[in-house]
Amino acid sequence: MRSAGDLIALLDRLGLTVKEVDSDGFEGVLVCRADRVKGIIAIQRGISEEGRKRFAICHEIGHFILPGHGADGCVCKGEDIESWRKGAPEYEIEANAFASELLLPYRELAPMVQKKKATIALAKDIAKSFGSSLTASCLKSVDVTDEKCAFIYSVDESIKWFHRNETFWHYIRGGKLAPESLAAQLFKGGIREQDGAVPAVAWLGDEQLPFDATIWEDSILLPNYNSVLTILTNHKGF
Ligand SMILES: [Zn+2]
Repeated sequence: MRSAGDLIALLDRLGLTVKEVDSDGFEGVLVCRADRVKGIIAIQRGISEEGRKRFAICHEIGHFILPGHGADGCVCKGEDIESWRKGAPEYEIEANAFASELLLPYRELAPMVQKKKATIALAKDIAKSFGSSLTASCLKSVDVTDEKCAFIYSVDESIKWFHRNETFWHYIRGGKLAPESLAAQLFKGGIREQDGAVPAVAWLGDEQLPFDATIWEDSILLPNYNSVLTILTNHKGF
C-alpha cells in the first residue's frame, strides 16, 4: 500500500472517514460502534511528517479491524504509536504491528533488507518508497534482517525504549546514554548522522561480554523531536 490512493481506497471500503483535529491529548482516535459498520478516525493536526500520519491512520484501522479492540473505539497517545515503550497496553502493540505490516509488508521488506543490511540509510530509502516514517522503517528493518539487531529510541540524551529482534539477546542498558555512544555525541549537536564500531559496554549490560567487544552503531538525530534513532548490530556475532 504505497500510494495515498491505496490508503483512501482501503478507508472507503471499510467505511472509515479521516478528519484532522486540534489536540494536545492524543495523536489518533477511532470513534465507531461495536458492529464496525463505519467509523471516524481523528488525527492530530500537528503531525508534520506524512509517513507518521499514515502510520497513525493505519494504527487506528488496526483498532477498527482487530478483534477485542475497544467496543466503541480507542484513544491513542503519541507515545504509544510506533512505539515499544515498556508498559504500553497490549492492544497498542497489536495496532502498531498491524500498521507496520500494512505499510511495510514483510514479504517485500525481507528480501530488500536481507540483500543489504539493516541501516539508517536503507531505512530512509524504505520510508521514501513505502510512504512510511523513518522510525517504522528502522523497526521493520531490524525485525526482518538475518543479523543480530536492535532498535533504540532515545530522547533528550536518555534511552526511552528499545526493540530487539529474535536473535539479539543482549541486555540493553536503560537510562542516560553512555558518552562513548555515537547517539550521545549527536545530541551535543554539530552532526546529524554517524555510524561505526563502539565499545559494546556503551550499550550492553551483559555480565560476560567478551573483552574489548565492539558493536556496530548507526544513529541519526531528529532535531524536531529532540530524539536519536539507533540501529545496533552485533557485527562480530558474539
Ligand atoms: Zn492505539
